[in-house]
Amino acid sequence: MGAKHTLVVIGNGMVGQHFLTKLVHSGISQNFRIVVFCAESRPAYDRTHLSECFVDKTTDDLALAEADFYKHHNITLYLGDKAVKIYRRSKIIISEQGLTLRYDKLVLAMGSYPFVPPIAGHGRTQCLVYRTVDDWNAIKAAAKNSAVGVVLGGGLLGLEAAKALTSLGLQTYIVELSPRLMPTQLDDTGSAMLRQQVEALGIKVLTGKNTHLISQGQQCLHKLCFADGNELETDMVVFAAGIRPQDEIARDCSLDVGARGGIVINNQCKTSDPNIYAIGECALWGGAIFGLASPGYAMAQTVVADLAGQPSQFLGAKMSTHLKLPHINVVSMGDVHAKTPGAVVYSYQNGANGVYRRLVVSTNGKQLLGAVLVGDVSAYTRLLPYFAVFCRQLGTALRTRYPHFAATAY
Ligand SMILES: Cc1cc2nc3c(=O)[nH]c(=O)nc-3n(C[C@H](O)[C@H](O)[C@H](O)COP(=O)(O)OP(=O)(O)OC[C@H]3O[C@@H](n4cnc5c(N)ncnc54)[C@H](O)[C@@H]3O)c2cc1C
Repeated sequence: MGAKHTLVVIGNGMVGQHFLTKLVHSGISQNFRIVVFCAESRPAYDRTHLSECFVDKTTDDLALAEADFYKHHNITLYLGDKAVKIYRRSKIIISEQGLTLRYDKLVLAMGSYPFVPPIAGHGRTQCLVYRTVDDWNAIKAAAKNSAVGVVLGGGLLGLEAAKALTSLGLQTYIVELSPRLMPTQLDDTGSAMLRQQVEALGIKVLTGKNTHLISQGQQCLHKLCFADGNELETDMVVFAAGIRPQDEIARDCSLDVGARGGIVINNQCKTSDPNIYAIGECALWGGAIFGLASPGYAMAQTVVADLAGQPSQFLGAKMSTHLKLPHINVVSMGDVHAKTPGAVVYSYQNGANGVYRRLVVSTNGKQLLGAVLVGDVSAYTRLLPYFAVFCRQLGTALRTRYPHFAATAY
């Protein structure tokens, strides 16, 4: 038998780890010598539940694999060592610690980094981001000498970060540029109901605020200056203003990347180099970066199948998000803003109970295009199978199940 081929994975985050797990389960891991570079100092953990560390979990509870997983499966894991250079012609990778390694197949699973808006003063002390365990530790340390905290960004991550700051005992503000919270995932009504529930947690919400300067405060460490002339003092700032794909080393070795970032992949998750795959949040498929874990898992599965010589394609993913705040239930799926031509909107609101449902269906009622559920999200699992699949009876079924729904054509 010839020498094993070397399979290198750059990134041991949620998707990189999922890839390793699927690879091991498929049985083909034995065909490879597997080496993994992990920029973080700990093996893969569940970042989606990072906020729980502020309440009742430790970071060790978030581990995605048993401690002996790598050794047990003959996987060499370099922790705290970042791949910094890929030489595609010679198929060589150089790491920050100076390792040089030849690969036969390479999987890029480098995720994203938090976007920090170029606001003057954004680099001041205690101006932080929220993505990793190290970020979490920095937030916790800063909270010890803070009374007030501001989260810049009122999307899913911003809301989670704000809840985390309140758990640390800070008077917390969310400052959002757009006129409403979760502007991508919610319509005006859904967002207004969410805002009430967030404010009931003691979090103050400022929307339509364009922060143009962070400077020295008088009562607190910082002063945020808004374009409308108002100001807000705070001891710490957490930026939650979106993510950007980690594609630097791919650019550097001239792999195709999108105009706004992301490593271009085809349906097999191959980059413009057939020996290099990209999966997860660093990958750009069909012009889209999927900022969620599950599409990355589907990509990982596709690569495992491709390596095993089995036909498999990644053909996109259903986008649905669930806000994970205690006592606040919000679900958003697909085309919530009814942008699809001819989309019909059914909505139901019970303000007293804090319940709102909005369903967006195709003109003929055969396809569920999108949905917003606030308050009572029990319909989520029932709706999921209908989402983006053709269902002849859907229009009728919706009217039967929710007779109070009003239909609005867009
Ligand atoms: C607080 C929080 C809550 C979230 N909640 C949800 C949720 O509810 N549902 C959901 O679907 N998604 C959620 N997400 C997003 C989810 O975590 C990401 O979609 C997922 O982690 C993407 O996986 P990934 O492997 O592509 O990237 P990551 O998990 O970020 O992993 C990439 C890894 O690669 C490493 N890396 C980067 N460059 C290099 C290099 N050159 N060399 C070596 N290593 C490198 C990075 O340090 C990182 O460890 C949440 C994210 C956060 C931060």
